[in-house]
Amino acid sequence: MKKIGFIGLGIMGKPMSKNLLKAGYQLVVYDINEQAVTELVEAGAEKGDSIKDVASKAEVIITMLPNSPQVKEVVLGEDGVIHGAKQDALVIDMSSIAPLVSREVGEELAAKGIRFLDAPVSGGQPKAVDGTLSIMVGGKEADFEESLPVLKCMGASAVLCGDVGAGNVTKLANQIIVAVNIAAMSEALVLATKAGVDPESVYKAIRGGLAGSTVLDAKAPLVMDRKFDPGFRINLHIKDLNNIMETGHEVGAPLPLSASVMEMMQALKVDGHGDKDHGSLVLFYEKLANAIVQKG
Ligand code: NAD
Repeated sequence: MKKIGFIGLGIMGKPMSKNLLKAGYQLVVYDINEQAVTELVEAGAEKGDSIKDVASKAEVIITMLPNSPQVKEVVLGEDGVIHGAKQDALVIDMSSIAPLVSREVGEELAAKGIRFLDAPVSGGQPKAVDGTLSIMVGGKEADFEESLPVLKCMGASAVLCGDVGAGNVTKLANQIIVAVNIAAMSEALVLATKAGVDPESVYKAIRGGLAGSTVLDAKAPLVMDRKFDPGFRINLHIKDLNNIMETGHEVGAPLPLSASVMEMMQALKVDGHGDKDHGSLVLFYEKLANAIVQKG
């Protein structure tokens, strides 16, 4: 079995790396957060002394970091993966970052004979723990096929969407649909509340019809129970919306709905809700309408 390097042991990376250990892979890990490293070592992983050290000891190197700048620093920086990885090693970046940065990272690695896939995920922490994430991949078909046994330990599905960068374009598409759906749900539930109709009845009546969605089923009950703990933080969704707007402008795709939801999330951040779940988008509408969406 291949030895895997894992860098970035946060909310997502920690359970994902633990699932690789459970599947029998040997793991060498690194994070700037010592506590996260200690937890993985206690679970059976080897501690890497540095990013370069991790890269030099593994055939597959996985990164799960916050955003593009961290991925660039960890992969291409002074102590980066690029300086430690063996020829023909496979780097899999599973962070959600700008697709243009994925391409840049892929090209720099390719120039050194190192292979690269961008493979962001959807599903959040519960699915990271269960190993049932949806994984969207960009890269060469042969590299994708080779990565499948590893990806399948972390995800229920892994789909090759195109060349390097296509994984993150797919993730941005995913994040547009999720953000706009939460906004639509919030708008609808505040309307029902102001019109004097129990939002729970509205939810139950419409969830099986065309307006039903995974987002509605995941978020409406939490909103009505006033549960806004993350989940997926407003601040992280703002990060994705920044990447969405930047990519849209680069490729010439205007994004009026994404731009609106971005400003709603910015307003919530200013109001101190940045670390709440993105379901708290309803608070924006509640403030506008002076209403609270709760079970009747
Ligand atoms: P997180 O902030 O919990 O974890 C990031 C980890 O990277 C932290 O442990 C941090 O210490 C480490 N790190 C940062 N800079 C580093 C560096 N230079 N060197 C080594 N380690 C470094 O974030 P997360 O929630 O695990 O998210 C990771 C990625 O997955 C993000 O791109 C996010 O958008 C995406 N994602 C998150 C969720 C979710 O629900 N949390 C769902 C899907 C996708």
